[in-house]
Amino acid sequence: VIAYAIILHALAAAALGCTAGYGLGYLVFLDENRKPRDFHGHYFGGLPILGAISGLLLTPGFSGQKEILALTATLAGFVILGMVRDFRKTAFRVLLPYQILLVIFGAFFGIEIVYRTRGLGVILTVCWPVVIMYCLKLASLIFEMPFLLCLGSGITFLLFFADQAATPPVSVILTLGMIVVSASGLFFLLKSRKGFLGDSGLFALGYLLAAISMLGRSKTLLMFGLLVPSMVIFYPFVLISLLIMSSYLGNELYLVDPKERKASYKWYLTRGHLVFFSAVVFFCLNLFALFVRVRMPLSGYLALGIIFLGAIATFIRTFARKSAENPPAMGTRIQILGVPMDVVDSGAAIEQVNAFLQRREGLFHIVTADSLAVFRAFRDKAFGRIVQRASLVVPDGAGLIWSADFLGTPLPARVPGIGLVEDICRAAEQKGWSVFFLGARPGIAEEAVKVLSGRFPGLKVAGMHHGYFYEGSQTEDQVLADIVTAKPDVLLAALGVPKQENFIQRLRLLANGMVAVGVGGSFDVISGNIPRAPQLMQRFALEWLFRLWKEPRRLSRIMRIPWFVLAVIRAKWQEKEFVV
Ligand code: UDP
Repeated sequence: VIAYAIILHALAAAALGCTAGYGLGYLVFLDENRKPRDFHGHYFGGLPILGAISGLLLTPGFSGQKEILALTATLAGFVILGMVRDFRKTAFRVLLPYQILLVIFGAFFGIEIVYRTRGLGVILTVCWPVVIMYCLKLASLIFEMPFLLCLGSGITFLLFFADQAATPPVSVILTLGMIVVSASGLFFLLKSRKGFLGDSGLFALGYLLAAISMLGRSKTLLMFGLLVPSMVIFYPFVLISLLIMSSYLGNELYLVDPKERKASYKWYLTRGHLVFFSAVVFFCLNLFALFVRVRMPLSGYLALGIIFLGAIATFIRTFARKSAENPPAMGTRIQILGVPMDVVDSGAAIEQVNAFLQRREGLFHIVTADSLAVFRAFRDKAFGRIVQRASLVVPDGAGLIWSADFLGTPLPARVPGIGLVEDICRAAEQKGWSVFFLGARPGIAEEAVKVLSGRFPGLKVAGMHHGYFYEGSQTEDQVLADIVTAKPDVLLAALGVPKQENFIQRLRLLANGMVAVGVGGSFDVISGNIPRAPQLMQRFALEWLFRLWKEPRRLSRIMRIPWFVLAVIRAKWQEKEFVV
């Protein structure tokens, strides 16, 4: 009875402190109309957490506990540090030394940790909280997940503590505090659909979770304590992989006919479903670890299995959901790493070409950008300016579909360069446009034209030239002059990135009323010189793997893709608002 009374007392004290934290946040951040200035926006997420833990000091028997005192002091430090980051956007690498100092402070002034004095123990003590904090930060980029993760971990801890006689009461009390904080945070999150943890909240929550997992003097407690948050570490990676997978599978990118492609845009997994699914999996894994630890009888595993299967069934069901009710707005322009990208599918791209040709003023440059081209535009200022000036930038690559989705501005579909060449030739046949084919090794353009003329007999070919000349050479001047004389409606330049873009930029000064499209290695594929990947590989967006196998020298290029992915994650990391 006494134990229950203490638990109730601790819950009430934590709730009281937490409310005080929210209240303080409200008061400090009221605007001149006494409306909360930025309740959703990040600025005082740490206060309720600090409030709840200091509230625990009101629990009888715990007011003088050095663990709680040390934790409260350290948490206060983290909240202040997080607020500095929230307000001034101080770089994480500047904050890191202070974070480490704070962790050391907490460890040596009261948070008793097993093996604290031994080599590995010291490293673990210092690194662990920092790693957990940043993993929570990573999870928060996708959704305000930290509350859910901490609630799950907290409940698992409580169940485990109930089974272990060696549990120090202070661990139970602190876990209760964490549960109160996470539950209230989750409540507000679901109500307002926006998170408000901010970096102050993330630092505080991460430190709290790490500290609870390390507290205690028994080895069993420690091992389990480390196991539960390590799932927090894996969680963001699992979720990001799921998101990448869904954006690959979500659009039936392999269909060649643009009409068919448009109609098939319906298998789509929303971020919310993914988050829900992965949270259930996270909790099931937690419980599984607990069951193994406490030697659960078979019935427990059975129940867990049913929950897990239910989650998978939900996942499969949501996969088959139609989401075409809410398609992204066509014709708008989004930014990926500051590089413009037009929200178009192949059909809309062809309509644009038509519109350009009706206007007939200057040169209309269309960039078919894959993730590496976007990355180049992001890194290389001169190339970036060329892409900024382009009349249309279309997404040619699964990596871009993923990143747009990840950044909260989903694109409807890929517009592959090869598909665009075919679509342009089809439209050219119907509307009588003439097309100039420039690029690839000598003879390849001719072969590609042969194939295309077979499919579109009425296609008017204004000229052809191979793409092997140096930039600024006489041959290049000659080719430029040839194109100006031939006056094609559309120039297809297959010289590879960035040569084709630079070439088109030079042509801009000379040509008028022309659409120029950079189409990379399309001629090689259309002419049949490089086979196209099997349907199944295209379906799973593995074309790059197939091309790597055919042309191993592409390896260095593929090695740059992770840097692109990192840059996108970093861009989101630095972003203030996130989109659910
Ligand atoms: N190419 C060219 N001139 C050059 C270099 C390359 O015409 O000086 C051609 C090459 O033959 C190939 C295409 O440009 O057909 C490049 O294709 P890739 O798929 O490698 O380019 P990406 O668009 O992926 O950069």
